[in-house]
Amino acid sequence: MPTVWVLGAGQLGAMLKQAAYPLALRVEPVEPESEQLPAIKDGDIITVEREQWPDTAVTRHMSQQSGFMNADIFGKIADRFHQKTMLDTLGINTAPWRSVEVDTQAKSLHAALGPDVLLKRREGGYDGKGQFWLYQDKGLDVPSDWLGTGIAEKKIPFNEELSLVGARDKDGNKVFYPLTLNLHRNGILMASVAPLARVDHLQGKAESMLGKIMDAADYIGVMAMECFRVGEELIVNELAPRVHNSGHWTQAGACVSQFEMHLRAVSGLPIKAPEVRGQSVMINVIGVERETNWLKIPSTQCYWYGKDVRPGRKLGHININHPKKSAVQTALNELRNLLPENYGDVFDWVKEELSSL
Ligand code: ATP
Ligand code: MG
Repeated sequence: MPTVWVLGAGQLGAMLKQAAYPLALRVEPVEPESEQLPAIKDGDIITVEREQWPDTAVTRHMSQQSGFMNADIFGKIADRFHQKTMLDTLGINTAPWRSVEVDTQAKSLHAALGPDVLLKRREGGYDGKGQFWLYQDKGLDVPSDWLGTGIAEKKIPFNEELSLVGARDKDGNKVFYPLTLNLHRNGILMASVAPLARVDHLQGKAESMLGKIMDAADYIGVMAMECFRVGEELIVNELAPRVHNSGHWTQAGACVSQFEMHLRAVSGLPIKAPEVRGQSVMINVIGVERETNWLKIPSTQCYWYGKDVRPGRKLGHININHPKKSAVQTALNELRNLLPENYGDVFDWVKEELSSL
């Protein structure tokens, strides 16, 4: 079997490595700043855990390999200008937007996009970083450091945020996980719930949107599509050409996790429609110290990324899965007592969703 090299050595790379074991695949995450070049052999596969990377000896080496999967996609997705252009070209619903050029004025953005406009950096934003709200009633101008570096989006008055994780193999076969409901706070994913019967009727629509995107890019592997639901409409917020935080629940709640699915697709192994088991909830651990008592809670899996604790930083996640919703609820109640009080609204949100099922 070829080795699968992962550009990036964060938690996604680590979880890809974990998922490789049953496939007896060798997966090697590579730190972009590493001094040593990976010993890539003919026939090896190179994939990524991030859509953007610094220009280093390692990243230059990896991205020049013939086994570098989806080489063309990163230029199209990592820069929001190109990503939005691609969505427009494919006729896929996305938040109305404008490019922020060196001479763009707030007035013209408000005229085109309304009173509340969200500036997003073209490149490098994540977890709500690289965003700036331009409110007309505050009389703000476009800050000078945004000129020529961003796009501007219309504020979408969404009902909720849903994401779809899918995979495509080299023959164009596609499989999808059920739509996942996501709660973000300050631009950071806090919790996901899946599956969710009340959004089942949107599954087909979501699959055809992501399917079209993956087909157009001749994409191989897992891709995630973040959406806003506005009534019965789905509006694409952004795409991630990789495994995604909103798919972490699949580690506990699907017969093939998103990590294994990605590895299967990129290494030419069969992919299959993932059978989903029970009810899953994923809670992200944001800026919170490790608590070993989490490990005692029934129906949970704890993932701790081994990163230094910093406010607002993703440090781990906890998957809760059980066939019975009441058992999921019990686990949530126990976990709630072991997380800081500011998680209260996250647990309230999950509880309400579960009770609606
Ligand atoms: P990620 O970590 O997922 O890559 P990000 O920081 O790159 O996130 P987005 O996903 O574009 O940025 O935005 C983060 C969050 O900000 C969204 O999940 C949503 O809650 C909110 N948001 C983004 N765009 C809009 C918009 N046009 N209207 C209203 N809210 C928005
Ligand atoms: Mg996002």
